[in-house]
Amino acid sequence: MTTGIVSKNILIVGGAFGGLSALKSIINNITKNQTAYSSALSNKNILKLNLDITVLEPRNGFINILGIPLALLDLKHANESYFEYNQKTLNLPINNTLNISDSIIIKINHIKDRCHRLYSDHAITSSNQVLNFDYCSVSTGRTRNWPLDPKGLTRLQFVDEMGQSLKKIKSANSVVVIGGGALGVEVAGEIKQHYPDKSVKLIHPHANILKEPKLPKEFAEKSTEILQNVIGKENTLLNTRVLDEIKKGNNKNDGLITLITNNPEHKEIKADLVYWCNSHKNNIDYLKFENSPFLGSLNQFDQVRINNDCSIKGFEDKIFAAGDITDLDFVKSAGGAMHCGGISGDNISNVIFSEFNAQNLPKSFITLPGAHMSVTFGNKSVITCTGEGEILFNAPRALMKYTDYCNKLVSKKLDLGLDSRL
Ligand SMILES: Cc1cc2nc3c(=O)[nH]c(=O)nc-3n(C[C@H](O)[C@H](O)[C@H](O)COP(=O)(O)OP(=O)(O)OC[C@H]3O[C@@H](n4cnc5c(N)ncnc54)[C@H](O)[C@@H]3O)c2cc1C
Repeated sequence: MTTGIVSKNILIVGGAFGGLSALKSIINNITKNQTAYSSALSNKNILKLNLDITVLEPRNGFINILGIPLALLDLKHANESYFEYNQKTLNLPINNTLNISDSIIIKINHIKDRCHRLYSDHAITSSNQVLNFDYCSVSTGRTRNWPLDPKGLTRLQFVDEMGQSLKKIKSANSVVVIGGGALGVEVAGEIKQHYPDKSVKLIHPHANILKEPKLPKEFAEKSTEILQNVIGKENTLLNTRVLDEIKKGNNKNDGLITLITNNPEHKEIKADLVYWCNSHKNNIDYLKFENSPFLGSLNQFDQVRINNDCSIKGFEDKIFAAGDITDLDFVKSAGGAMHCGGISGDNISNVIFSEFNAQNLPKSFITLPGAHMSVTFGNKSVITCTGEGEILFNAPRALMKYTDYCNKLVSKKLDLGLDSRL
């Protein structure tokens, strides 16, 4: 008996590293296996499968967030870091159909909105639209302080925001960056590289910057030394915590700022501009609300608990998660988000056709002794820790990658059209 036409809905929440990788891998996997998948359909007496993939993402495009430290200072780079969701850039028909074969037709939609609530088979957007799904992948990343987490949704708004930030940097004589993680170090390094005459201080509560349990001690020590060379030893305030921030005048964004610290030698630090690079929050409010079915799938750090196949615990074979919001025990990275997103997409397409084995995260992902990580001090100096724990300074490949903060690399990995960005 022929079942006829079957429709399936896939919802992708968050359209950046994890989300776009999931989207691309669904399409690539189905395209690559179209013959096998088509016969899997015919074995089930299905004549035609209509696959509706909806990307729920408030932005008009994808921002390569890695390059924010440079985008704050270089508007051309900001512009180049924004990849609009259109056919030319995504190399996929957006809000249009893609005929994979006579029996498989895919439609990709972009809904420019936020996920407000997620349930086991539908989502509710911020504007109360109900989106039913059969399968879902979530990769909503983290929120940081402005301007490190841009608010603008369009390219124009994003570049404008970076422009506002640049204006503030230009008019400031002294800048203080709080937090010696990768973000703080890159912001401080870039500002100093662009404006060597400005005073740039970095305040960090520990004895060394870039202290990560998965990174060797030597990485943190060497990085501290490099930062001290770049911004000055006297401007690298270690073992120092900011207790309060007092702003002069009514307009909280302008004027002289006094930072009160616990360091007896630097009790008060004056600055024209302060960047708080010390905190982030996982974007999981849409999973964490009263009576949410996902409460048991979140851990105490507001991370989404996932299985090796990137499905969310308790929602196996149906809802997947990738990227910064997951509970994977490694330094969160764009590469990690793309890898998990890819696995989520592969597994969603595998589940739909129910013919193939699930893909799992490679063991090395979790068990590598070190974390692969590169951090710049201004994009002309880069420190790298390889997965094997080797520490390299200014390795040619890393230097090349960071001349554009991985714009080319990311566009290659996500198969995005580079030249259509502008
Ligand atoms: C300044 C900076 C520099 C970095 N440098 C590096 C680096 O050099 N190398 C590296 O590997 N990693 C780096 N990282 C980390 C890397 O950027 C993250 O690990 C990566 O972005 C995670 O990808 P993701 O898809 O999980 O989330 P994100 O890239 O944060 O994307 C999340 C997406 O979800 C959307 N979203 C959020 N909430 C909702 C909602 N409720 N509904 C719908 N959509 C939503 C957002 O708009 C966004 O587009 C850096 C991070 C920052 C901030």
